[in-house]
Amino acid sequence: MSDRITGIKDNLEKLQSRINNACQEAKRNTTEITLIAVTKTYPADDVDLLKQLGIDDVGENRDQEAALKRTQVQADFNWHFIGQLQSNKAKSVVSYAHLIHSVDRSSLAKEIQKSAQGVDKKQAVLIQLDLDQSGPDPTRGGLWPTELMALAQQITDSSHLELKGLMSVAPLAENPAVAFARLAEIRTEFLKTYPQATILSAGMSDDLEAAILHGATHLRIGSALLGERPKIG
Ligand SMILES: *Cc1c(COP(=O)(O)O)cnc(C)c1O
Repeated sequence: MSDRITGIKDNLEKLQSRINNACQEAKRNTTEITLIAVTKTYPADDVDLLKQLGIDDVGENRDQEAALKRTQVQADFNWHFIGQLQSNKAKSVVSYAHLIHSVDRSSLAKEIQKSAQGVDKKQAVLIQLDLDQSGPDPTRGGLWPTELMALAQQITDSSHLELKGLMSVAPLAENPAVAFARLAEIRTEFLKTYPQATILSAGMSDDLEAAILHGATHLRIGSALLGERPKIG
């Protein structure tokens, strides 16, 4: 095995034990958790190594990078789109995304619906919520929670969209456990109307324990698996 795969394998083992411990603490089963390897900034070769380690789900946050990498990767993956999405990129993202995590406005949902209809695909989506109580943060995206039910209704009424659940990123200025507790409350209410939309995409390298404790089903893990990224955002 190359040094690179050995390094990722070590990281994966540490990560899995963190996930196991957090599940035990939360009295949850590890089979409820899907690990999405966030491969942004990492090359296609790394993505192929992940397959050898049993990972089937990868996440990217920029269309340009994802669309190119996907053509370079040999193995089959579920490609998750987790970044802020401009409406004019919807068509491209729909062409490869297994799940779009970052639907946060009506105009974007409309554009995804139109693109999905064009290729006769039912596009699975999550609504991204903004948990930052200090006010909307335009750099991170997300819908204000008070607007959740209106967007959920729009998506449910769209012939080529399937609402699978919710996604959020913990705000920088708050303890993630507090933010994720709030998210869990919002989700409990939301599930009363949309019981099928059970995915909760929450938890990154530094806050996955808090996310698991508060119901996350999908973790988006980059640096804890692949190493520190060069600081380009
Ligand atoms: C980069 C990114 C992640 C992964 O972050 P790490 O801290 O490296 O685990 C998760 N979610 C989103 C939306 C991201 O952009």
